[in-house]
Amino acid sequence: MNKKLIHPVDEKYISFLSDESKQEGFADTISFPSSPEELLQIIASPLPAPITFQGANTGVEGGSVPQGGSIINFSRMNHIREIQKLSDTEGYAIVEAGVTLDQLAQEIRRSLKTDDYIWPPSPTESSATVGGVIATGAYGMTSCYYGTKNLYLRELTLLHSNGHTEVLSDIPEPFQLPAGTCIVKATLKLLKRPANICGAAFFFDTESNALACADKLQNYVPDNKDVLIISMEYIGNTAIKMINTSRELISVLKDVPALPSDAKAVIYVEIAGNEESQDEALMELIDITSEYGSDPDVAWALTGYTEIRKMHSLRHAATESVIQFIERKHHEDNRIIRLGVKPLSRGRSFQETILSIIQALEDANLCASIYAHIKNSDIQVNFLPENFEDYQKSKNIANTWI
Ligand SMILES: Cc1cc2nc3c(=O)[nH]c(=O)nc-3n(C[C@H](O)[C@H](O)[C@H](O)COP(=O)(O)OP(=O)(O)OC[C@H]3O[C@@H](n4cnc5c(N)ncnc54)[C@H](O)[C@@H]3O)c2cc1C
Repeated sequence: MNKKLIHPVDEKYISFLSDESKQEGFADTISFPSSPEELLQIIASPLPAPITFQGANTGVEGGSVPQGGSIINFSRMNHIREIQKLSDTEGYAIVEAGVTLDQLAQEIRRSLKTDDYIWPPSPTESSATVGGVIATGAYGMTSCYYGTKNLYLRELTLLHSNGHTEVLSDIPEPFQLPAGTCIVKATLKLLKRPANICGAAFFFDTESNALACADKLQNYVPDNKDVLIISMEYIGNTAIKMINTSRELISVLKDVPALPSDAKAVIYVEIAGNEESQDEALMELIDITSEYGSDPDVAWALTGYTEIRKMHSLRHAATESVIQFIERKHHEDNRIIRLGVKPLSRGRSFQETILSIIQALEDANLCASIYAHIKNSDIQVNFLPENFEDYQKSKNIANTWI
């Protein structure tokens, strides 16, 4: 065994035995390759099986939590090889798997001397790595516009467990990483983001009104064909309560104003287009949301990329507050870990699906934070169990929804 590259797991590596799901694992060895050559040497060594690959351990499903064997952590394979513009709308970046989204955004800005180019997959956690995002197929608030299956890749270099390197240039959508294979390097498609952006957050004093409005908005097409809908998000009552109570603990919220005190649900719509077309679409959105009781005078209007970041931070806080809650509960009882599901709609409308979830939670005396990407009815339910009994009840209910 290569002792310089492969270390026995002891106390100092304890943080690598868990991820944001709070599942806890165990492993015999851990390695931190800092180049594809080191990675090859490690894979060629007689490693204890199974091998678990790790990016930044921000995953919420336990995918990077080892169950014995070896860990290969990509955080030091974080070199950006090249960033180039190809045209006025496209570019590419050649990066190693351990490059974080923060690092990528910074380097794009530095190399291209502009903020305008992005790699579209955008889970709200910017410390996640490119390898982790590709492996999990992660996406975020802007999936309404950029899609949920396209990983925006030009080329992907994989290393199979037998030491064979494969370069894929025709990448299927959705992409499924073969078992036992790791991502070494990727050429990412960069796109110029829309020039003019704005967002509006509409607040509702009942969840049922907000959900009825969300149903209507699912079919909303702006009259002006120049307007693009970039994001359409729902944040429910419990998620709002969680954000409000965790506000002091969530650093990204420091520049985000407090939500209206009677807000029981938020619908956020982000659009791009020229100023005139944006104004037209905003008026249409105000008409629709007012019909369902949202007061336009308390709505937030956010203009430009700096302003809309506030709403992206708020949405991030919805996940972060759940993670912090579960962390506290896990501390009290280590059998409690994150329990999140994406319930199937089974032919029901967005409104019907969420109302039935809320009803089932009420009937079982359980609590969950609910938020969603409205356009594709992509609903995320995160249970908030008070104790292990609640956790088990939540698990049983969750199983009936998927
Ligand atoms: C506050 C918060 C908000 C989040 N918001 C979102 C969101 O909006 N949307 C979303 O989709 N997710 C979200 N996530 C989850 C998480 O950030 C993403 O799943 C992310 O893609 C994980 O990246 P990572 O580098 O941390 O991967 P890890 O957690 O380290 O690993 C995740 C999976 O990828 C595999 N993996 C990692 N690197 C490689 C590699 N090089 N080769 C092969 N496999 C690899 C691991 O084995 C594991 O199965 C959020 C997490 C947090 C904490």
